[in-house]
Amino acid sequence: MEYRSTRGGPAVRIEEAIMSGTAPDGGLYVPSSLPTFSIADFDGCESLAEVATRFLQAFVAGSSLGPQLVDICHDALNFPVPVRALESGLSVLELFHGPTAAFKDVGARFLAATMARILRDDRHAGPPATILVATSGDTGGAVAAAFHRRPGLRVVVLFPAGRVSTRQQHQLTCWDGNVLSLAVEGAFDDCQRLVKAAFADAGLAGGYRLCSANSINVGRLLPQAAYYARTSLEHYRRSGERASFIIPTGNLGNAFACVWARHAGLPIDRIVLATNANTTIGDFLATGQWLPRPTVPTLASAMDVGNPSNMERLRDLCEGQVERLREEVSAMAVSDEDIRATIRDEYRRNGSVFCPHTATALHAYRHLPATERSNRHWIAVATAHPAKFDTIVEPLLGIHVEPPAELAGLLELPSHFATIRPELAELAGQLAGWDAHG
Ligand SMILES: *Cc1c(COP(=O)(O)O)cnc(C)c1O
Repeated sequence: MEYRSTRGGPAVRIEEAIMSGTAPDGGLYVPSSLPTFSIADFDGCESLAEVATRFLQAFVAGSSLGPQLVDICHDALNFPVPVRALESGLSVLELFHGPTAAFKDVGARFLAATMARILRDDRHAGPPATILVATSGDTGGAVAAAFHRRPGLRVVVLFPAGRVSTRQQHQLTCWDGNVLSLAVEGAFDDCQRLVKAAFADAGLAGGYRLCSANSINVGRLLPQAAYYARTSLEHYRRSGERASFIIPTGNLGNAFACVWARHAGLPIDRIVLATNANTTIGDFLATGQWLPRPTVPTLASAMDVGNPSNMERLRDLCEGQVERLREEVSAMAVSDEDIRATIRDEYRRNGSVFCPHTATALHAYRHLPATERSNRHWIAVATAHPAKFDTIVEPLLGIHVEPPAELAGLLELPSHFATIRPELAELAGQLAGWDAHG
Protein backbone atom coordinates (compact mmCIF):
# COMPACT_ATOMS: atom_id res chain seq x y z
CA MET A 1 0.00 0.00 0.00
CA GLU A 2 1.28 3.43 -0.94
CA TYR A 3 0.15 6.82 0.27
CA ARG A 4 -0.41 9.78 -2.01
CA SER A 5 -0.92 13.45 -1.27
CA THR A 6 -4.38 14.97 -1.70
CA ARG A 7 -2.57 17.56 -3.84
CA GLY A 8 -1.09 15.10 -6.26
CA GLY A 9 2.59 14.79 -5.25
CA PRO A 10 4.44 11.47 -5.55
CA ALA A 11 3.31 8.45 -3.53
CA VAL A 12 5.36 7.38 -0.48
CA ARG A 13 5.57 4.41 1.87
CA ILE A 14 3.55 4.49 5.09
CA GLU A 15 6.71 4.93 7.17
CA GLU A 16 7.38 8.22 5.44
CA ALA A 17 3.73 9.32 5.54
CA ILE A 18 3.72 8.80 9.31
CA MET A 19 7.13 10.33 10.06
CA SER A 20 6.58 13.43 7.93
CA GLY A 21 2.91 14.07 8.85
CA THR A 22 2.09 16.30 5.88
CA ALA A 23 3.15 15.87 2.26
CA PRO A 24 5.86 18.22 0.92
CA ASP A 25 3.27 19.84 -1.38
CA GLY A 26 1.18 20.80 1.69
CA GLY A 27 -1.41 18.08 1.03
CA LEU A 28 -2.57 15.30 3.35
CA TYR A 29 -1.59 11.68 2.87
CA VAL A 30 -4.29 9.18 1.90
CA PRO A 31 -3.99 5.52 0.83
CA SER A 32 -3.58 5.26 -2.96
CA SER A 33 -6.58 2.92 -2.96
CA LEU A 34 -8.88 1.86 -0.13
CA PRO A 35 -9.05 -1.86 0.60
CA THR A 36 -12.49 -3.50 0.65
CA PHE A 37 -13.58 -6.07 3.18
CA SER A 38 -16.52 -8.39 3.55
CA ILE A 39 -17.99 -9.03 6.96
CA ALA A 40 -16.74 -12.63 6.88
CA ASP A 41 -13.17 -11.31 6.66
CA PHE A 42 -13.50 -10.45 10.33
CA ASP A 43 -14.70 -13.87 11.49
CA GLY A 44 -12.97 -14.71 14.75
CA CYS A 45 -11.99 -11.08 15.46
CA GLU A 46 -13.65 -9.81 18.63
CA SER A 47 -11.51 -7.33 20.56
CA LEU A 48 -10.52 -3.91 19.25
CA ALA A 49 -6.92 -5.07 18.87
CA GLU A 50 -8.00 -8.13 16.86
CA VAL A 51 -10.33 -6.21 14.55
CA ALA A 52 -7.73 -3.45 14.17
CA THR A 53 -5.03 -5.95 13.24
CA ARG A 54 -7.22 -7.50 10.54
CA PHE A 55 -8.44 -4.14 9.25
CA LEU A 56 -5.09 -2.34 9.25
CA GLN A 57 -3.10 -5.20 7.70
CA ALA A 58 -4.17 -3.97 4.27
CA PHE A 59 -3.05 -0.43 5.09
CA VAL A 60 0.47 -1.44 6.14
CA ALA A 61 0.92 -4.22 3.56
CA GLY A 62 4.45 -4.37 2.15
CA SER A 63 5.91 -2.06 4.82
CA SER A 64 8.21 -2.72 7.75
CA LEU A 65 5.14 -2.30 9.99
CA GLY A 66 3.34 -5.30 8.46
CA PRO A 67 5.02 -8.04 10.54
CA GLN A 68 4.81 -5.85 13.68
CA LEU A 69 1.14 -4.95 13.38
CA VAL A 70 -0.12 -7.48 15.94
CA ASP A 71 2.33 -6.06 18.47
CA ILE A 72 1.53 -2.46 17.58
CA CYS A 73 -2.21 -2.99 17.98
CA HIS A 74 -1.84 -4.79 21.30
CA ASP A 75 0.59 -2.13 22.54
CA ALA A 76 -1.53 0.84 21.45
CA LEU A 77 -5.14 -0.36 21.74
CA ASN A 78 -4.97 -1.81 25.21
CA PHE A 79 -7.99 -0.12 26.81
CA PRO A 80 -11.70 -0.85 26.43
CA VAL A 81 -13.95 1.01 23.94
CA PRO A 82 -17.33 -0.20 25.18
CA VAL A 83 -20.71 0.49 23.61
CA ARG A 84 -23.33 1.29 26.21
CA ALA A 85 -27.03 0.91 25.37
CA LEU A 86 -28.80 4.09 26.47
CA GLU A 87 -32.34 3.46 25.31
CA SER A 88 -34.12 1.62 22.49
CA GLY A 89 -32.47 2.68 19.23
CA LEU A 90 -29.61 4.62 20.86
CA SER A 91 -26.22 3.56 22.22
CA VAL A 92 -23.10 5.43 23.20
CA LEU A 93 -19.61 4.45 22.02
CA GLU A 94 -17.30 5.37 24.91
CA LEU A 95 -13.90 6.32 23.53
CA PHE A 96 -12.66 7.86 26.78
CA HIS A 97 -11.22 4.93 28.72
CA GLY A 98 -7.61 5.63 27.72
CA PRO A 99 -4.87 7.28 29.82
CA THR A 100 -6.05 10.89 29.32
CA ALA A 101 -9.78 10.15 29.09
CA ALA A 102 -10.41 11.37 25.53
CA PHE A 103 -10.62 9.62 22.16
CA LYS A 104 -7.33 11.21 21.08
CA ASP A 105 -5.56 8.56 23.18
CA VAL A 106 -6.37 6.00 20.46
CA GLY A 107 -4.66 7.87 17.65
CA ALA A 108 -1.81 9.18 19.78
CA ARG A 109 -0.97 5.74 21.18
CA PHE A 110 -1.03 4.11 17.75
CA LEU A 111 1.16 6.87 16.35
CA ALA A 112 3.65 6.48 19.21
CA ALA A 113 3.73 2.71 18.80
CA THR A 114 4.37 2.96 15.05
CA MET A 115 6.92 5.80 15.26
CA ALA A 116 8.89 3.96 17.96
CA ARG A 117 9.15 0.91 15.68
CA ILE A 118 9.96 2.89 12.54
CA LEU A 119 12.82 4.61 14.36
CA ARG A 120 14.08 1.36 15.85
CA ASP A 121 14.24 -0.15 12.36
CA ASP A 122 15.85 2.94 10.92
CA ARG A 123 19.32 1.86 9.92
CA HIS A 124 20.44 5.48 9.92
CA ALA A 125 19.32 5.95 13.50
CA GLY A 126 20.60 9.28 14.76
CA PRO A 127 19.58 11.54 17.63
CA PRO A 128 16.13 11.05 19.15
CA ALA A 129 13.20 12.37 17.13
CA THR A 130 11.31 15.26 18.74
CA ILE A 131 7.54 15.47 18.47
CA LEU A 132 6.57 19.14 18.52
CA VAL A 133 2.92 19.68 19.31
CA ALA A 134 0.81 22.80 19.81
CA THR A 135 -2.32 22.15 21.83
CA SER A 136 -5.45 23.97 22.94
CA GLY A 137 -6.08 21.24 25.50
CA ASP A 138 -6.70 17.56 24.76
CA THR A 139 -4.17 16.73 22.05
CA GLY A 140 -1.05 17.66 24.01
CA GLY A 141 -1.98 15.49 26.98
CA ALA A 142 -2.79 12.47 24.81
CA VAL A 143 0.46 12.87 22.84
CA ALA A 144 2.59 13.37 25.95
CA ALA A 145 1.04 10.31 27.62
CA ALA A 146 1.46 8.17 24.51
CA PHE A 147 5.12 9.07 23.90
CA HIS A 148 6.20 9.27 27.54
CA ARG A 149 9.24 7.05 28.14
CA ARG A 150 9.35 5.76 24.55
CA PRO A 151 13.03 5.26 23.68
CA GLY A 152 14.31 7.35 20.77
CA LEU A 153 11.44 9.83 21.03
CA ARG A 154 10.92 13.11 22.87
CA VAL A 155 7.93 15.44 23.06
CA VAL A 156 7.70 19.21 23.32
CA VAL A 157 4.19 20.46 24.16
CA LEU A 158 3.30 24.12 23.60
CA PHE A 159 0.11 25.38 25.22
CA PRO A 160 -1.34 28.88 25.62
CA ALA A 161 -0.52 30.11 29.14
CA GLY A 162 -3.64 30.64 31.25
CA ARG A 163 -6.01 29.51 28.50
CA VAL A 164 -6.44 25.83 29.26
CA SER A 165 -8.46 24.44 32.15
CA THR A 166 -6.69 23.54 35.41
CA ARG A 167 -7.12 19.82 34.77
CA GLN A 168 -6.00 20.12 31.16
CA GLN A 169 -2.89 22.03 32.23
CA HIS A 170 -2.08 19.32 34.72
CA GLN A 171 -2.28 16.65 32.02
CA LEU A 172 0.08 18.71 29.89
CA THR A 173 2.67 19.30 32.58
CA CYS A 174 2.79 16.19 34.80
CA TRP A 175 5.39 14.34 32.71
CA ASP A 176 9.10 14.03 33.25
CA GLY A 177 12.00 12.57 31.30
CA ASN A 178 11.35 12.84 27.59
CA VAL A 179 8.51 15.39 27.76
CA LEU A 180 9.09 19.16 27.88
CA SER A 181 6.02 21.33 28.59
CA LEU A 182 6.10 24.99 27.60
CA ALA A 183 3.45 27.58 28.41
CA VAL A 184 3.43 30.21 25.66
CA GLU A 185 2.41 33.76 26.58
CA GLY A 186 -0.24 34.05 23.90
CA ALA A 187 -3.16 32.23 22.30
CA PHE A 188 -3.33 28.78 20.70
CA ASP A 189 -2.66 30.41 17.33
CA ASP A 190 0.66 31.71 18.66
CA CYS A 191 1.59 28.16 19.69
CA GLN A 192 0.74 26.91 16.22
CA ARG A 193 2.70 29.72 14.60
CA LEU A 194 5.74 28.78 16.68
CA VAL A 195 5.47 25.14 15.65
CA LYS A 196 5.25 26.11 11.99
CA ALA A 197 8.23 28.44 12.35
CA ALA A 198 10.28 25.68 13.99
CA PHE A 199 9.51 23.23 11.17
CA ALA A 200 10.42 25.88 8.61
CA ASP A 201 13.79 26.47 10.31
CA ALA A 202 16.18 23.98 8.70
CA GLY A 203 18.61 24.06 11.63
CA LEU A 204 15.96 23.27 14.24
CA ALA A 205 13.96 20.82 12.09
CA GLY A 206 17.06 18.85 11.13
CA GLY A 207 19.01 19.20 14.36
CA TYR A 208 16.17 17.94 16.54
CA ARG A 209 14.54 15.65 13.94
CA LEU A 210 11.25 17.44 14.45
CA CYS A 211 8.10 15.41 13.78
CA SER A 212 4.46 16.33 14.10
CA ALA A 213 1.70 14.39 15.80
CA ASN A 214 -1.31 16.49 14.91
CA SER A 215 -4.58 15.04 13.75
CA ILE A 216 -3.74 15.24 10.06
CA ASN A 217 -1.13 12.50 10.53
CA VAL A 218 -2.46 9.40 8.80
CA GLY A 219 -1.09 7.35 11.71
CA ARG A 220 -3.75 8.88 13.93
CA LEU A 221 -6.63 8.31 11.53
CA LEU A 222 -6.06 4.63 10.82
CA PRO A 223 -6.70 3.25 14.33
CA GLN A 224 -9.78 5.45 14.61
CA ALA A 225 -11.25 3.70 11.57
CA ALA A 226 -10.61 0.45 13.44
CA TYR A 227 -12.96 1.32 16.33
CA TYR A 228 -15.72 2.08 13.86
CA ALA A 229 -15.02 -1.28 12.23
CA ARG A 230 -15.21 -3.09 15.55
CA THR A 231 -18.34 -1.26 16.75
CA SER A 232 -20.27 -1.66 13.49
CA LEU A 233 -19.33 -5.36 13.23
CA GLU A 234 -20.46 -6.02 16.77
CA HIS A 235 -23.81 -4.36 16.06
CA TYR A 236 -24.21 -6.19 12.76
CA ARG A 237 -23.45 -9.57 14.27
CA ARG A 238 -26.09 -9.00 16.93
CA SER A 239 -28.83 -7.39 14.86
CA GLY A 240 -28.12 -8.04 11.17
CA GLU A 241 -28.27 -4.28 10.64
CA ARG A 242 -25.87 -1.49 9.89
CA ALA A 243 -25.23 1.08 12.63
CA SER A 244 -25.46 4.85 12.12
CA PHE A 245 -23.07 7.17 13.95
CA ILE A 246 -23.33 10.71 15.30
CA ILE A 247 -19.84 12.11 15.81
CA PRO A 248 -18.81 15.28 17.68
CA THR A 249 -16.65 17.03 15.10
CA GLY A 250 -13.98 19.70 15.07
CA ASN A 251 -11.07 19.01 12.74
CA LEU A 252 -12.99 16.05 11.21
CA GLY A 253 -10.34 13.45 12.04
CA ASN A 254 -12.64 11.21 14.05
CA ALA A 255 -15.55 11.39 11.62
CA PHE A 256 -13.41 11.02 8.51
CA ALA A 257 -12.07 7.76 9.89
CA CYS A 258 -15.67 6.53 10.05
CA VAL A 259 -16.17 7.47 6.39
CA TRP A 260 -13.06 5.42 5.52
CA ALA A 261 -14.37 2.42 7.44
CA ARG A 262 -17.66 2.57 5.53
CA HIS A 263 -15.83 2.85 2.19
CA ALA A 264 -13.79 -0.19 3.16
CA GLY A 265 -17.01 -2.21 3.39
CA LEU A 266 -17.85 -2.09 7.10
CA PRO A 267 -21.59 -2.19 7.94
CA ILE A 268 -22.05 1.52 8.60
CA ASP A 269 -25.19 3.38 7.55
CA ARG A 270 -25.56 7.13 8.18
CA ILE A 271 -22.82 9.42 9.51
CA VAL A 272 -23.97 12.65 11.15
CA LEU A 273 -21.43 15.28 12.23
CA ALA A 274 -22.37 17.23 15.34
CA THR A 275 -20.47 20.53 15.46
CA ASN A 276 -20.51 23.41 17.91
CA ALA A 277 -20.96 27.04 16.84
CA ASN A 278 -17.97 26.65 14.47
CA THR A 279 -20.12 25.82 11.47
CA THR A 280 -17.68 25.83 8.54
CA ILE A 281 -18.49 22.21 7.58
CA GLY A 282 -22.27 22.54 7.89
CA ASP A 283 -22.25 25.76 5.89
CA PHE A 284 -20.21 24.09 3.18
CA LEU A 285 -22.67 21.20 2.93
CA ALA A 286 -25.53 23.70 2.72
CA THR A 287 -24.03 26.19 0.25
CA GLY A 288 -21.20 24.38 -1.54
CA GLN A 289 -18.86 27.21 -0.57
CA TRP A 290 -15.77 26.50 1.51
CA LEU A 291 -15.36 29.49 3.78
CA PRO A 292 -12.94 28.85 6.65
CA ARG A 293 -13.29 31.47 9.34
CA PRO A 294 -11.79 32.49 12.66
CA THR A 295 -12.49 30.11 15.50
CA VAL A 296 -15.39 30.85 17.85
CA PRO A 297 -14.74 29.79 21.48
CA THR A 298 -17.42 27.41 22.81
CA LEU A 299 -18.06 25.04 25.73
CA ALA A 300 -17.01 22.13 23.49
CA SER A 301 -13.56 23.68 23.20
CA ALA A 302 -11.77 20.69 21.65
CA MET A 303 -14.05 21.20 18.63
CA ASP A 304 -13.29 24.92 18.26
CA VAL A 305 -11.96 24.74 14.71
CA GLY A 306 -12.79 27.34 12.09
CA ASN A 307 -10.79 25.69 9.31
CA PRO A 308 -11.10 21.90 9.68
CA SER A 309 -8.06 20.45 7.93
CA ASN A 310 -9.34 16.93 7.34
CA MET A 311 -12.02 18.36 5.06
CA GLU A 312 -9.32 18.21 2.41
CA ARG A 313 -9.38 14.41 2.66
CA LEU A 314 -13.17 14.22 2.45
CA ARG A 315 -13.26 16.52 -0.57
CA ASP A 316 -10.52 14.41 -2.16
CA LEU A 317 -12.56 11.24 -1.57
CA CYS A 318 -15.58 12.86 -3.23
CA GLU A 319 -13.48 14.32 -6.04
CA GLY A 320 -14.59 17.77 -5.00
CA GLN A 321 -18.28 17.12 -5.74
CA VAL A 322 -20.55 18.62 -3.09
CA GLU A 323 -23.45 16.32 -3.99
CA ARG A 324 -21.30 13.29 -3.22
CA LEU A 325 -20.17 14.87 0.01
CA ARG A 326 -23.79 15.30 1.03
CA GLU A 327 -24.28 11.56 0.49
CA GLU A 328 -21.36 10.80 2.77
CA VAL A 329 -22.25 12.96 5.75
CA SER A 330 -24.74 15.45 7.10
CA ALA A 331 -24.06 18.02 9.81
CA MET A 332 -25.88 19.68 12.66
CA ALA A 333 -24.60 22.71 14.58
CA VAL A 334 -25.22 22.90 18.33
CA SER A 335 -25.08 26.15 20.33
CA ASP A 336 -23.60 26.50 23.81
CA GLU A 337 -27.11 26.99 25.13
CA ASP A 338 -28.16 23.66 23.63
CA ILE A 339 -25.03 21.98 25.00
CA ARG A 340 -25.93 23.13 28.51
CA ALA A 341 -29.57 22.09 28.11
CA THR A 342 -28.54 18.67 26.76
CA ILE A 343 -26.15 17.98 29.64
CA ARG A 344 -29.01 18.76 32.06
CA ASP A 345 -31.71 16.89 30.11
CA GLU A 346 -29.73 13.71 29.59
CA TYR A 347 -28.86 13.59 33.27
CA ARG A 348 -32.53 13.93 34.16
CA ARG A 349 -33.60 11.40 31.55
CA ASN A 350 -31.15 8.54 32.15
CA GLY A 351 -28.86 9.68 34.93
CA SER A 352 -26.08 9.84 32.30
CA VAL A 353 -23.38 12.49 32.58
CA PHE A 354 -21.86 13.65 29.29
CA CYS A 355 -19.01 16.01 28.45
CA PRO A 356 -19.86 19.12 26.39
CA HIS A 357 -18.51 17.51 23.18
CA THR A 358 -20.52 14.35 23.59
CA ALA A 359 -23.55 16.50 24.40
CA THR A 360 -23.49 17.88 20.84
CA ALA A 361 -24.03 14.34 19.53
CA LEU A 362 -26.89 13.68 21.95
CA HIS A 363 -28.51 16.96 20.96
CA ALA A 364 -28.19 16.04 17.28
CA TYR A 365 -29.80 12.65 17.98
CA ARG A 366 -32.77 14.21 19.77
CA HIS A 367 -33.29 16.54 16.80
CA LEU A 368 -33.15 13.98 14.01
CA PRO A 369 -36.39 13.62 12.06
CA ALA A 370 -38.61 11.06 13.87
CA THR A 371 -38.43 8.59 10.97
CA GLU A 372 -34.63 8.71 10.96
CA ARG A 373 -34.65 7.87 14.64
CA SER A 374 -37.13 5.01 14.37
CA ASN A 375 -35.71 3.44 11.19
CA ARG A 376 -32.10 3.09 12.29
CA HIS A 377 -29.94 2.21 15.23
CA TRP A 378 -27.88 5.23 16.26
CA ILE A 379 -24.59 5.26 18.09
CA ALA A 380 -23.59 8.60 19.61
CA VAL A 381 -19.82 8.86 20.00
CA ALA A 382 -18.61 9.94 23.46
CA THR A 383 -15.26 11.63 22.85
CA ALA A 384 -14.23 12.59 26.40
CA HIS A 385 -15.00 11.69 30.01
CA PRO A 386 -17.14 14.37 31.68
CA ALA A 387 -14.65 14.64 34.57
CA LYS A 388 -12.21 16.30 32.14
CA PHE A 389 -14.66 19.16 31.88
CA ASP A 390 -15.66 19.27 35.54
CA THR A 391 -15.80 23.08 35.64
CA ILE A 392 -18.60 23.03 33.05
CA VAL A 393 -20.46 19.87 33.96
CA GLU A 394 -20.45 19.96 37.76
CA PRO A 395 -22.11 23.40 38.23
CA LEU A 396 -24.76 22.50 35.63
CA LEU A 397 -25.74 19.29 37.41
CA GLY A 398 -24.89 20.21 41.00
CA ILE A 399 -22.99 16.94 41.45
CA HIS A 400 -19.40 15.81 41.78
CA VAL A 401 -18.09 13.87 38.77
CA GLU A 402 -15.44 11.38 39.87
CA PRO A 403 -12.42 11.23 37.51
CA PRO A 404 -11.59 7.74 36.19
CA ALA A 405 -8.66 6.09 38.02
CA GLU A 406 -5.99 6.79 35.39
CA LEU A 407 -6.90 10.44 35.09
CA ALA A 408 -7.04 10.78 38.89
CA GLY A 409 -3.54 9.27 39.01
CA LEU A 410 -2.19 11.90 36.60
CA LEU A 411 -3.80 14.68 38.60
CA GLU A 412 -1.79 13.56 41.65
CA LEU A 413 1.58 13.90 39.90
CA PRO A 414 3.67 17.06 40.36
CA SER A 415 3.43 19.59 37.55
CA HIS A 416 6.37 21.41 35.95
CA PHE A 417 6.74 23.64 32.93
CA ALA A 418 8.59 26.70 31.68
CA THR A 419 6.96 29.83 30.30
CA ILE A 420 8.17 31.45 27.07
CA ARG A 421 7.23 34.41 24.92
CA PRO A 422 5.87 33.41 21.47
CA GLU A 423 9.23 33.78 19.74
CA LEU A 424 11.24 31.15 17.91
CA ALA A 425 14.46 32.17 19.67
CA GLU A 426 12.86 31.38 23.03
CA LEU A 427 11.70 27.96 21.85
CA ALA A 428 15.17 27.27 20.43
CA GLY A 429 16.70 28.32 23.76
CA GLN A 430 14.50 25.87 25.65
CA LEU A 431 15.40 23.05 23.27
CA ALA A 432 19.12 23.77 23.64
CA GLY A 433 18.84 24.00 27.43
CA TRP A 434 16.91 20.74 27.57
CA ASP A 435 19.60 19.06 25.47
CA ALA A 436 22.39 20.37 27.69
CA HIS A 437 20.72 18.98 30.81
CA GLY A 438 20.19 15.58 29.23
C1 LIG B 1 -10.43 16.57 19.42
C2 LIG B 1 -11.77 16.35 20.03
C3 LIG B 1 -12.96 16.38 19.26
C4 LIG B 1 -12.94 16.71 17.80
O1 LIG B 1 -12.40 15.65 17.02
P1 LIG B 1 -11.92 15.92 15.51
O2 LIG B 1 -11.25 14.68 15.10
O3 LIG B 1 -11.01 17.10 15.57
O4 LIG B 1 -13.16 16.21 14.72
C5 LIG B 1 -14.16 16.12 19.89
N1 LIG B 1 -14.22 15.86 21.21
C6 LIG B 1 -13.11 15.84 21.99
C7 LIG B 1 -13.26 15.57 23.44
C8 LIG B 1 -11.86 16.06 21.43
O5 LIG B 1 -10.76 16.04 22.21
